[in-house]
Amino acid sequence: CGVFGVFGHPDAAGLSYYGLHALQHRGEESSGICTVDTARGNAFNYHRGMGLVKEVFDKEKLDMLAGDRSIGHVRYSTSGASQLANAQPLIFRYRDGDLGVATNGNIVNAPEIRRELEMSGSIFQTSSDTEVIAHLIARSPKDFVTAAKEALQRIVGGFAFLIMTNDKLLVASDPHGLRPLVMGRIGDAYVFSSETCAFETIGAEYVRDVQPGELLILDSTGMTEDRYAEIERRATCAMEYIYFARPDSDINTINIHSARKRMGQRLAIESFVDADIVTGVPDSSISAAIGYAEQTGIPYELGLIKNKYTGRTFIQPSQELREKGVKMKLSAVRKVVEGKRVVMIDDSIVRGTTSRRIVNLLREAGATEVHVRITSPPFKNPCYYGIDTPDRKELIASFRTVEEICKEINADSLSFLTDQGFVESVGGNDGAYNRGMCLACFDNDYPTVVDEESDKSCSC
Ligand code: 5GP
Ligand code: SF4
Ligand code: MG
Repeated sequence: CGVFGVFGHPDAAGLSYYGLHALQHRGEESSGICTVDTARGNAFNYHRGMGLVKEVFDKEKLDMLAGDRSIGHVRYSTSGASQLANAQPLIFRYRDGDLGVATNGNIVNAPEIRRELEMSGSIFQTSSDTEVIAHLIARSPKDFVTAAKEALQRIVGGFAFLIMTNDKLLVASDPHGLRPLVMGRIGDAYVFSSETCAFETIGAEYVRDVQPGELLILDSTGMTEDRYAEIERRATCAMEYIYFARPDSDINTINIHSARKRMGQRLAIESFVDADIVTGVPDSSISAAIGYAEQTGIPYELGLIKNKYTGRTFIQPSQELREKGVKMKLSAVRKVVEGKRVVMIDDSIVRGTTSRRIVNLLREAGATEVHVRITSPPFKNPCYYGIDTPDRKELIASFRTVEEICKEINADSLSFLTDQGFVESVGGNDGAYNRGMCLACFDNDYPTVVDEESDKSCSC
C-alpha cells in the first residue's frame, strides 16, 4: 500500500490526489483521501472508492474535500479482503470528533489483540487490522497522543501510519523501519509519503526519512519530533529495493534505480553467461538489465514489452487471474530476440508462474537460448509485514533447488544473486552484513516475533 499526508497546505486534497497517483504502483485496488478543514471548525471530509486514484476522484469529488490537512491511501489487497469496507483511510467517531487512519504494512499480532478487544466488547466494522489501532486508541482513557503512543507500543509488525483527528496529525514508523516513509516540505506545508517519487510529482522538497520508532505530532503549534520506541534493529524491507518501490524513489537516501543497476552489475560478476543480448522484464528489472549489460558489454535490448494498461500481476487475487494477467501484460519483441541467445533479468521468482511464462514467450519468439538471472536471492520465506506473498508451500524456492527451478521455468540456466551480493549492491560494502535491511524472505531471520500459523495477509 501507499500513504500520503499533507499538513498546512490550502489544497491538501489536490496535493494528495497527485501524490497518491505517483504511489499508484503500491496498490491499485482502492483509493481514499480524508481532509481536515481548519478554516471551517476542523471538520472531516472524506471520500474512498474501489479502483485507481484517477477513477475514484474527479474534480467534483476533490472540490468537496476542502481542507489544509489530509491523509490518503492506495491499497492492494490479498485474497478475500477486496471490499470497500476495507478501503482506507478508515474513519471512526472518536470522543466528540473523528479519527482517520491510513496504514502501509501489517500488524503481526492484530488477530490476538482483536480477539482480546472483541472479548471485552469491541465491535469491529472491517476485516482490516488497521482497525485494531483505532480501537486501542479509542478505548484508552488517556489523552490522544499518549493513547496513540501506547497503542503503537502494543502492536508488532511493519507499518507506516498516518493518524488524524480534528486537531492533530500523527506520523509513525514501526520500530524497525520496515516500511518506507519520508517527510518533505512544500512552501510552509509538511508532506509525508511512502516514497519520494510523490514529492517530485507535486514539487515538494525531500527533508528526511521518518526514523524507526519515531512519532511525529503535528498540530496548530507546529511539529513535535517524538518517539514511542527505541530503534531496536533497523530492518528496511529488501523487497522495496528489489521490486516494490519506483526507480525514481530514494529509500534511506539510496536511489532505487541505481541500487537495481548495481544488483545487475553484481549479478554479471557472480554469474556471467555469454549471450547475444540482455533484456529486462519490465518495469522493475530494466535498471538491473542495464547494469548487467554495462558490466558484461553484451548489448541491452528491448526484448520484452509491457502493456501498460494491465495492473501488476501479483495484485490479482487468484492464481487463475494471475496466469491470465501475465499473458495480457507482456510480449516478446520477435525481431529483437529471434535467433539470439538471451540473458533475461528479473527481480524475483515467487511462485515461478511469471518466469516460466516469460521464458516461453522468448522461445516462441525465436530465442535460441534463455538464461535467467534474478536480482534477489531465492525467495523462500513468507512476509508478515505487508508485502503480499503466498504461503511458504507456494514459494517455489522453498521446496525446489535452483536446478529444479531452472527446469521448471524451462530456462537454459538460472542464477540468483547471493545474499551478500544483494546487500552490497544496495548499500556498499562496509562490513555490516545486512546494512539494516530485513532479508527474512531470503534468510528466515525475521526482525520481530512471527507466528507461522497466523494470518499474515496484509490488510492495508
Ligand atoms: P512469480 O510468477 O514467480 O510468482 O512472480 C514473479 C514476478 O512477479 C516477479 O517479478 C515478482 O516481483 C512478482 N510477483 C509475483 N507474485 C508476487 C507476490 O505475491 N509478491 C510479490 N512481492 N511479488 C510478486
Ligand atoms: Fe520485505 Fe521480505 Fe522482510 Fe517482508 S520478509 S519485509 S518482503 S524483506
Ligand atoms: Mg517482475
